Amino acid sequence: MRKTLKEALRVGVATKKYPFAPIKVPEDMRGKPEYNKSQCICCAACAVACPPNAIQVFPDIINGSIKWQIDLGRCIFCGRCEEACPTRAIWLGPEFELAVMTRDDLLEDANFELAQCEQCGKYYAPKKQVEYLSKLYETIHPGGKGADAVQVAAAHDIHICTECKAKNDGLRRSESLYDEGGR
Ligand code: SF4
Ligand code: SF4
Repeated sequence: MRKTLKEALRVGVATKKYPFAPIKVPEDMRGKPEYNKSQCICCAACAVACPPNAIQVFPDIINGSIKWQIDLGRCIFCGRCEEACPTRAIWLGPEFELAVMTRDDLLEDANFELAQCEQCGKYYAPKKQVEYLSKLYETIHPGGKGADAVQVAAAHDIHICTECKAKNDGLRRSESLYDEGGR
């Protein structure tokens, strides 16, 4: 008995008071994904990277909107979304208590506008993503400075849909073939 008491005093309190008191989590804890809509450009990189499809995007090309959604009930806390996000709009935080009353309470979503193709007018990509890419290009080549023909074409294509881009690519290719072979 004396030996046990001595050992208990040496070890001290070996248990935690949680859940009656908050528990300290490790600094690099991979808890609930935290999301900041104002940082998000709805590029869907997180949705592509997410192994269990916990993140999805739902475009509505009739009404020109797109919904970004995360289902925390499917999340496996792997952190792939955080790694893939170009704008730090999603990251794994310290929160781990995810008990809710209904399944729907585990859903979080955000709505964005789609941009229209400057050539055909079709809705084709999230407006914020188009603006982000435009700004990025302007940072690298202010006013087009230092950009070659391919980079200028790529900058133009930020504002058009994939179908129009494919048509333009075909035209560009035939023009450069004509240049090489005919003149
Ligand atoms: S942590 Fe993993 S499973 Fe959860 S949303 Fe991010 S990518 Fe998906
Ligand atoms: S990767 Fe980041 S910016 Fe892109 S949709 Fe996901 S959270 Fe938004």
